[in-house]
Amino acid sequence: MDNPETYPHPCTNCGLCCIAVPCPAAQGFMGVKTGQCPALEWNPENPDESRCGLITNKEKYLSQHAVAFIEKEIPNFPEFMGAGKGCCISARVLGPHGMQDFASLSPLQKIDYTRIIRTNPNKLQSRQ
Ligand code: SF4
Ligand code: SF4
Repeated sequence: MDNPETYPHPCTNCGLCCIAVPCPAAQGFMGVKTGQCPALEWNPENPDESRCGLITNKEKYLSQHAVAFIEKEIPNFPEFMGAGKGCCISARVLGPHGMQDFASLSPLQKIDYTRIIRTNPNKLQSRQ
């Protein structure tokens, strides 16, 4: 299940994609289809930096069976999850230059926007 796709803008771990919709892995392994991913975590030393709980702490979120499956069948799980492949979100937001792709915002703009969404989730619009 290799995914060679990369994206032009880097991932800065703002967390917005995981707030917007569970990724395919979250849907497959946890059965969640909508809303903020239950495995989304925030770095306690930097509360603006998101972490994928399925990468950092999968035993907390998955059954023993699922953990065993991943360890046997998906040895490079972070890569499978898209870590390091760039900003994959498909969402347009009102930025400094009008409506623009969220992925193209600067790291600080992404943090600012995500802070707003975390406190006002009803402002989120996405086409994922
Ligand atoms: S499983 Fe990880 S990458 Fe996927 S939506 Fe949840 S926190 Fe994000
Ligand atoms: S929205 Fe983009 S930059 Fe933010 S965590 Fe998701 S992939 Fe990374």
